[in-house]
Amino acid sequence: PMGVCPSATMLLLRDNFTGVLRPWARPEVLTCTSWGAPIIWDGTFNPVIAQKKARQQNLTIGLTVFAVGRYLEKYLARFLESAEQHFMVGQRVVYYVFTERPAAVPRVALGPGRQLRVEHVVRERRWQDVSMARMRTLHEALGGRLGREAHFVFCMDVDQHFSSAFGPEALAESVAQLHAWHYHWPRWLLPFERDSRSAAALAQGEGDFYYHAALFGGSVATLRGLTGHCARAQEQDRARGLEARWHDESHLNKFFWLHKPAKVLSPEFCWSPEIGRRAEIHCPRLLSAPKEYAILRD
Ligand code: UDP
Ligand code: MN
Repeated sequence: PMGVCPSATMLLLRDNFTGVLRPWARPEVLTCTSWGAPIIWDGTFNPVIAQKKARQQNLTIGLTVFAVGRYLEKYLARFLESAEQHFMVGQRVVYYVFTERPAAVPRVALGPGRQLRVEHVVRERRWQDVSMARMRTLHEALGGRLGREAHFVFCMDVDQHFSSAFGPEALAESVAQLHAWHYHWPRWLLPFERDSRSAAALAQGEGDFYYHAALFGGSVATLRGLTGHCARAQEQDRARGLEARWHDESHLNKFFWLHKPAKVLSPEFCWSPEIGRRAEIHCPRLLSAPKEYAILRD
């Protein structure tokens, strides 16, 4: 699907007083969903105005990341160091690192107004369970200190690093990430869970986009709902002896089908260099590490 959708005018009117969004600046890509949410591509926002607006609101932005088992030594330092360079620079930021080995968390020099908290989690045996257990843990954290100190939170995979500015233009009540491997696929081919017995199931014809669980975000209230939904759905599947095709990501996709995201990030925000060059990818902001499952997963 190409072109600026009709509600670009609506976006213009809504954001005109702030001047953050300019969806017409990228006519070759889809910059608005059918339900009126902006799809943020490089060039469709003014980062300076977005920063100024966020500063005026005196926001605290949370960034959660899990580093369990070998993922800690392999990825955490670079993830945090690159976040210091690029994530919400100029805003108040609180990192939440979840790990079973708090003492092994690298000491990263933090800029002013930036804090890091380490939370202990138990290590699940299967990597699928480590990945899925994040939903329940995040749900509890959002109901506790994280939820009290942050206004908005991003939840990310650790096996990636920031490569360019990731600022408040990405903030919204709920934020979903277009999956870099799937954004140009026909809808019927998208890898949603199709087993109707699973709580994550989407029927043929359902599903707007395939979203990447390596990055999602939103307000504390919305994320409480999202993580609670996904944790409950996963537990329901488990009780029935089921596991969704792409684990927590399948349930996240079901949630965003039922509750449309307020903002969608283009694949530039979470890009995979293995895909190679693409004309529409101007400025990747997060780059995923090559998959090295043989040495990471048992
Ligand atoms: N993770 C972890 N230890 C594990 C498995 C997963 O810390 O043994 C965390 C880590 O943050 C990782 C995320 O869960 O980035 C999702 O797992 P992974 O990145 O392996 O899944 P994929 O991106 O390949 O779907
Ligand atoms: Mn990952």
